[in-house]
Amino acid sequence: MNPQLSGAIAVPIILIAITLGYAFACWVWPFKNCGKCHGTGKKRSPSRKAFRLCRRCEGTGRRVRAGRWIYNRLSGIRRDAR
Ligand SMILES: [Zn+2]
Repeated sequence: MNPQLSGAIAVPIILIAITLGYAFACWVWPFKNCGKCHGTGKKRSPSRKAFRLCRRCEGTGRRVRAGRWIYNRLSGIRRDAR
């Protein structure tokens, strides 16, 4: 088999596999830690004693992953994952 041709076939297959794997991962694990509060949901004061809720995640400490966000938008489902 022509190596150029097999490469031309293999690359799209690999890209599709990565996309499907990512889509599956976003379906099973729709959240990631909030980057601002590192998943704690708290924003510490400089004294480290007081805290307020993180604004970006509203105190949940979680963020919807990009793939899941897109899925939510496409499907119109918002009850599972905000
Ligand atoms: Zn946060």
